[in-house]
Amino acid sequence: MAGKKVLIVYAHQEPKSLNGSLKAIAVEELSKQGSDVTVSDLYDMQFEPRTTRTDIVGDLYNPEQFNYGVEAWEACKNGCLSEDLIEEQRKVKEADLLIFQFPLYWFSMPAIMKGWMDRVFIQGFAHDFPKCFDSGLLRYNKKALLSFTTGGDQGMYSKEGLSGDIRWVLWPMQHGILHFCGLSVLAPQICFAPEYVALEERKQMLSSWAKRLKTIWEEKPINCIPEWYYNI
Ligand code: FAD
Ligand code: ZN
Repeated sequence: MAGKKVLIVYAHQEPKSLNGSLKAIAVEELSKQGSDVTVSDLYDMQFEPRTTRTDIVGDLYNPEQFNYGVEAWEACKNGCLSEDLIEEQRKVKEADLLIFQFPLYWFSMPAIMKGWMDRVFIQGFAHDFPKCFDSGLLRYNKKALLSFTTGGDQGMYSKEGLSGDIRWVLWPMQHGILHFCGLSVLAPQICFAPEYVALEERKQMLSSWAKRLKTIWEEKPINCIPEWYYNI
């Protein structure tokens, strides 16, 4: 939609991958609508996923014993976070919609994206207990969506399947991170087993993503409570 801002946080090494194609389609479709799209291409940026002392510029709050959470919180309050974090936080602040595009790694997101969550969604910026979940600091009209691919097929990710229902995998990422920070969670976009399906089916995956994006601004968030994940 014209005037809306989207941040796509993208974690794949290969532009020719299905993740690369899903990201490209999102950029194309959303730009066509007149939305302002920014991509944080984490591998390309060589994004630092580690939470270390270098995230804090200048003196530490407690130089005797390093506590990352406390130091990042203090640095956030005092404007002493490293430049790369401030830049990512600026993109988050401006965005109306955050899309996370990634291949599922060990029932979760790749380490480089998890590191982005660890370092960008820090206390004082994204949450500040008890300001969490519906009171999270990013609660003002910001939506978030996980778009990912898997190795396992849909049957494997059913309640009776070997991996269990895909919603159980979503609980830590959607509820534990996105909702915790106050974001409104849109239904995930999942492409099951793109490496093992026919070309036609992969094309179908891409076109249904493009179709969904046409009306993405009309979508209502999911009810991100335990029942959504576990009453299935
Ligand atoms: P790709 O292999 O890059 O793409 C699939 C196919 O789509 C390719 O042939 C590509 O050429 C083709 N393609 C790209 N663009 C187009 C286009 N425009 N039109 C048509 N075709 C196109 N899986 C799980 O299910 N659970 C796990 O816990 C899990 N853990 C993992 C942990 C690690 C460390 C790793 C490396 C993998 C893990 N996997 C897991 C598997 C992983 O999730 C999949 O390999 C990945 O999601 C596949 O997506 P991709 O984009 O990398 O596929
Ligand atoms: Zn929730």
